[in-house]
Amino acid sequence: MKLTENIHLLRLDFKINLNSYKIIERFVNCIIVFGKKITLIDTGTKDSAANIFDYINKNGRDIAEIETIILSHSHPDHIGSAAEIQKTTGCRILAHKNERSWIENIEAQMNERPVPGFLDIADRSVRIDKLLDHGQVIEADENVSLKIIHSPGHSKGSINILFPEDRILFTADSIPVKNDIPVYDNFYDLMNSLHCIRTNPDYAILLTSWTPPLTDREEIEKFFNESEGYLKALDETVKSIYIGEESEALEFCKKVILTLGLPDFYVNPVVDKAFKGHRR
Ligand SMILES: [Zn+2]
Repeated sequence: MKLTENIHLLRLDFKINLNSYKIIERFVNCIIVFGKKITLIDTGTKDSAANIFDYINKNGRDIAEIETIILSHSHPDHIGSAAEIQKTTGCRILAHKNERSWIENIEAQMNERPVPGFLDIADRSVRIDKLLDHGQVIEADENVSLKIIHSPGHSKGSINILFPEDRILFTADSIPVKNDIPVYDNFYDLMNSLHCIRTNPDYAILLTSWTPPLTDREEIEKFFNESEGYLKALDETVKSIYIGEESEALEFCKKVILTLGLPDFYVNPVVDKAFKGHRR
């Protein structure tokens, strides 16, 4: 989908096998910036490279022009095809320093954050060529710059990318989607980043990894309200249930998920760890 002459959004579909009888269909967005060279922001899950290459070719450009991949964060649905694309094109890979260990060691990420379906969507580890800092600006073309905004909470080194000239902001996974699996690194950082995004006056179009582009201010406000409402409900429920000692593992996590009517596969150690972070 063409957002401006230079900035395109590509939806990448994928499936997660929860178990032998349950498959979830999902999608994740990546951004393709057609400038003097081509810059990719995120790369979908593994096996997404062909779709990305196809989109680039259909727009009359050559995949050899891919110079840079910027990874919003380390999770497998964002870095899945980075290694493949780098191998094919020789491009450089950029990410925030706090994401380095999980991008460069996918096995460690799998052990420390075993989200459902991890191995369905993760590919290989890949080396970061250059670390990104908050406030850094990357020039993709004349009048197309990418400003890096550190937005921790979902993960320690999550970044958002602002296109100041076009007033477009890409927030990746920084804004939790209502009723989506509650996995975050730090609840309080997440709330703070959400507030920063909401009050940032520099954008008119909001892009996330999970939604079509949001252009209408009312629609954007509704999206924030739903996200904040979901986080508030999670916080209140977690604080009312995570009291004292558990008699069995994941007992509190299960109670929170049941109380909020969320899918039972959310009951797992990664969600439990996120919930435990609500107790400062
Ligand atoms: Zn993520």
